Amino acid sequence: MTPPLIHVDLLIERYDTLLIDAYGVLVYQQDALPHASEFIQHLNDTQKSYFIVTNDASRLPEQAAASYKKRGLRAELSPERIITSGSLLIPFFTQHRLQGANCVVLGPEGSHEYVRQAGGVIVSPFETDDVDVVAVCDDAGYPFLDTIEATLSMLFRRFDEGKQTHLLLPNPDLIYQKDETNFGLASGSIGVLLEQAFHLRYLHEEFQFVRLGKPHTPIFEVASQRAQTRNLVMIGDQLRTDIAGANAYGIDSALISTGLVQLQNQNLPPTWQPTYLLESLALQS
Ligand SMILES: [Mg+2]
Repeated sequence: MTPPLIHVDLLIERYDTLLIDAYGVLVYQQDALPHASEFIQHLNDTQKSYFIVTNDASRLPEQAAASYKKRGLRAELSPERIITSGSLLIPFFTQHRLQGANCVVLGPEGSHEYVRQAGGVIVSPFETDDVDVVAVCDDAGYPFLDTIEATLSMLFRRFDEGKQTHLLLPNPDLIYQKDETNFGLASGSIGVLLEQAFHLRYLHEEFQFVRLGKPHTPIFEVASQRAQTRNLVMIGDQLRTDIAGANAYGIDSALISTGLVQLQNQNLPPTWQPTYLLESLALQS
């Protein structure tokens, strides 16, 4: 069954709050996407409730807003409206009483700042095994192989001694697109790599990362709390993250064709089935 092709006006009318993915919906590579500025401007002008929901765990909301602006998104986007997967570290630390915990953070400065804001103390896997939390936030910002191997070795030593460590993966994305024909490995791939290594060494124990971003429910729970409603719709370009995540959380979704997925791919499993299809963010009214 093909979902109905609609205009974005219908979503504004039908839902209390819009959840909007950033990459592939508002911006793409180095540019803002067509109609994105007018759409956000319209939401601002009419005081419609919306949040940008992104798996970014390496930039603070202010930095994310600045990067969209730099790409040409002309409408004002308040950092308060941006929910990043990195910002979910803050409630996670509160919930698990991790203030003051020693944390190894794989990612650039923005990722470190999220952990500091959550109350964590940054330590190096090269210098200590006294580590309560490992947060894999990004593929950049550190010497890649050396840091991953030092983290893996540190965790093996801790697991061997039966010591608990919280393993966190705010951004579970496996890959990202650099340009038309080039791709990069995202932090989710590092999480999978480490999990496979744990699996080889510890046959009878499961050491797994807690995943916070889309398609997992923590980011949708935070969005729902912030919006103070469950009458939400997720607008995204990715079936595996935006649409599957909305379905798992039990809210409606709209797949937009500006990103990687073409609308013609119709033979979808029910978990990936969007409620609606959108050609663009162009307003009818
Ligand atoms: Mg996207």
